[in-house]
Amino acid sequence: MTAPLTIALSKGRIFKETLPLLAAADIVPVDDPDTSRKLILDTNQSDVKLVIIRATDVPTYVQHGAADLGVAGKDVLLEHGGEGLYEPLDLKIARCRLMVAGDPNHRPRSSRPRIATKYANTTRRWFADQGRQVEVIKLYGSMELAPLVGLADYIVDVVDTGNTLKANGLAPLEHIADISSRLIVNKAAMKMKHARIKAVMASMAAAAGA
Ligand code: AMP
Repeated sequence: MTAPLTIALSKGRIFKETLPLLAAADIVPVDDPDTSRKLILDTNQSDVKLVIIRATDVPTYVQHGAADLGVAGKDVLLEHGGEGLYEPLDLKIARCRLMVAGDPNHRPRSSRPRIATKYANTTRRWFADQGRQVEVIKLYGSMELAPLVGLADYIVDVVDTGNTLKANGLAPLEHIADISSRLIVNKAAMKMKHARIKAVMASMAAAAGA
């Protein structure tokens, strides 16, 4: 008898890129979250469930033990703070960079530039660490719009190809962090379900080349 497992994942890129890693651990979802409206997906293993939630909620579910394991971007983990979580494995998927971006020719009107971002904690910390005064404006999406309409001087966002920035006349300016998705584990589950979680981790690590 093995311990049951609940794994928290977000839809889209992380889900798609995590599937082959879970398959390496012989965990295969029965439903496709892109076509199913179910929030809890069954898998080929009757005691392994996947919960499909917003990317920013994954650390919260795992921290409180509502899920034993989860896959979350390092950007989300930096912003969350990572309390109550182990982060044992870099899955090397959904890679991108967290950047300050803006119009390279823009001159801020104040000595305390305004930065629009959904990564408010990370942004405050990064500028404060450098002794740079900024005003952070919290947004929930479409950060690229903020400099175009004068809401902010710069943005902090994740950048992959840079095409979204370019399409809006913006460019990456300063590198904050390299981002990839991590396997996260609830601290109590790591103790109570150690053998099973270790086995899943080993298979996923081998498949990720980690
Ligand atoms: P880009 O390829 O730079 O045009 O990226 C398009 C948009 O996708 C960016 O504005 C990001 O918000 C988002 N994005 C790209 N890569 C990732 C990732 N690894 N994780 C989360 N969001 C991403």
